[in-house]
Amino acid sequence: MSPSRKDPLAHLATLVSPDEYLTPEKSESEYAAESKTWSAARNEHPAVVIRPQTIETLSSVIKYLHDTNLDYKVRSRGFGSASARDVVISMTAFDEFEWDAATQTVTLGAGANWGKYYVEMEKAAPKQMIVAGRTPSIGYGAVSDASNLQDAQLVLADGTITWASQHPDLFWALRGTEGGFAAVARFKFNAKPFPENGNIWGGPIMIPREKAPEVAKGIAAMCAREDTNPKVALFVYVLKKEILHFLGADQDMLVIHAYDAFGEEHGRKEFAWALDFEGAIDKTRSQMTMREMTDLQANLGELQGKQSAFWTAMAIATLTEDMVLSALDWWATDNAQNKHGSVADQGYLLFELFSCRDNLTSQASSAWPRPLGFKHMVLIGSGCSADAPDSDLREAKRLVRDVGPAKILGAESAKHMVAIPNAMEDFHDLKAIYGENLPRLQEIKKKYDPNNRIKGRILPA
Ligand SMILES: Cc1cc2nc3c(=O)[nH]c(=O)nc-3n(C[C@H](O)[C@H](O)[C@H](O)COP(=O)(O)OP(=O)(O)OC[C@H]3O[C@@H](n4cnc5c(N)ncnc54)[C@H](O)[C@@H]3O)c2cc1C
Repeated sequence: MSPSRKDPLAHLATLVSPDEYLTPEKSESEYAAESKTWSAARNEHPAVVIRPQTIETLSSVIKYLHDTNLDYKVRSRGFGSASARDVVISMTAFDEFEWDAATQTVTLGAGANWGKYYVEMEKAAPKQMIVAGRTPSIGYGAVSDASNLQDAQLVLADGTITWASQHPDLFWALRGTEGGFAAVARFKFNAKPFPENGNIWGGPIMIPREKAPEVAKGIAAMCAREDTNPKVALFVYVLKKEILHFLGADQDMLVIHAYDAFGEEHGRKEFAWALDFEGAIDKTRSQMTMREMTDLQANLGELQGKQSAFWTAMAIATLTEDMVLSALDWWATDNAQNKHGSVADQGYLLFELFSCRDNLTSQASSAWPRPLGFKHMVLIGSGCSADAPDSDLREAKRLVRDVGPAKILGAESAKHMVAIPNAMEDFHDLKAIYGENLPRLQEIKKKYDPNNRIKGRILPA
C-alpha cells in the first residue's frame, strides 16, 4: 500500500497549508464554526475540516479524496446541514464579491452568505439586484432559473477545474437541485434593475392568535388575487407568548412579516387587512434597502446547531382558509402541546407567500420540474434539544413527515409537492421532487461522479 493510502488524513495534511487543516484538537472554535450544521443531529463531527484558500488547493484535495475511501462533503454555510464522518471541505474562504457593470453580472464566491452579498451590492450598484435569499446568514441554495444563474466555476469529482457553461448537462443538473454533482467555487448571477431599493416598506405585524380564523381569511384572500405584484410578498409565522413577554403579550401571536417594494403608502393599502385587526402591533419600517429588509432576519443565524431539527417545505399553488387553519392546528396541537421531552419547544410553522414562481425561461431549463403555477410554500419544522434521546428525534421526524403534510394538505395532497430541493430530508421522496427528471439526473451523476464521491442523494444510474 502506498504511503498516501496508509494514512489518508495525514497525506491530506501535506496537500494544504497548516491553517487550511482544522481539527478539534488544534483549533477548537474555528473547527466548530467551519463544521456547524443547522440541525445538531446531522453534524457527523468530521475528523478534519479542510478550508481551502484557492481553487488549486480545492482541486488537489478533491482529486486526492477521489481515490480514497474517506467520507467527505463540501459545505458552504451549513444551513443545509452538510457534514461527513471524515472530511468536511469548508468553502468559507471563497467569499469574494465582484460587480461587472458592463455585463450587469455579479460573481460571488460560493462560500459567502447572502448577508455579505446584500452589503456589497448596496455599495456597488444599489439600484440593481439579483434574485437572492431572504435570510442573510444562509449560503446559496438551489438557484434554479436559467435567466438568473449565468455560470458557475466548478471542481469536478476527479479534481478537474472547469466552468458549468462548458457542460450543458451538468449545468442543467446544478440548477434547482440540492447539489452533489461537483464542488462550486463561484457563481455568476445576472442582475436586474431594482429602482425601488431604498423605498421598501415591511416588517412584522403581530396579531393575537385568537384572531386566527379572520387572519386565515385575509391570507387566503391575498393568495386568491391575480393582481398582486411580485414586489409584494409576505411570510407568516406563530410566536409563543413565552417569548413575547417584552411586549406584555398574554397570548401567542401570529406574525405577518410584510414586504412591499413600492413603499409605505402602497404597503399599508395592501396589508390593511392585517394592520386593521384589533390588538395588532405594527413593527413595520419604511424607506429600507433590501439589505435592511433582510437584516430583520439576521438573528436567525444564531440558532444554527442549537437544536436537532427536521422540516418539510410544501410547494403549493394556492393557500385556502382550511389549509391555514389546519396548519395552525398542527402547530398548536401536535407540536406545541407535544408530550415528548423537548419537542414542544422547537416546532415552527411558516407560510411563505409569493416566494416561488414558474421558471421565466421554460420548465425544462431547471432540474426541479415544479408544476406550473406553484407560488407559495408552507414550511413545517419540528425538533428537539441537541442532546435529546432518539425517541424525541423520532417523534420530531414523525410530526413533519407523517402528521403535518397529511393534516395540512389532506385529500388535496396529490396536487402539491411535498418537499423542495433546498429543504430536503433523507425521508423525502426524490421521485416526488424531481419527477421525470430523476433518471436524467442519475445519468448525469454517473457521468460526472460515478462513485458518488461528492456525496449527494441523487445516485449514479
Ligand atoms: C434558517 C434557514 C433559513 C433559510 N432561508 C432561506 C431563504 O430565505 N431562501 C432560500 O432559498 N432558502 C432558504 N433556506 C434553505 C437554504 O437555501 C438551504 O438550506 C441551503 O442549502 C443552505 O446553503 P448552505 O451553504 O448554508 O448549506 P450547506 O449545509 O453548507 O450545504 C447544503 C448542500 O449544498 C452542498 N454544497 C454546499 N456548498 C457547496 C459548494 N460550494 N459546492 C457544491 N455543493 C455545495 C452541500 O454539500 C449540501 O448538500 C433556509 C434554511 C435555513 C436553515
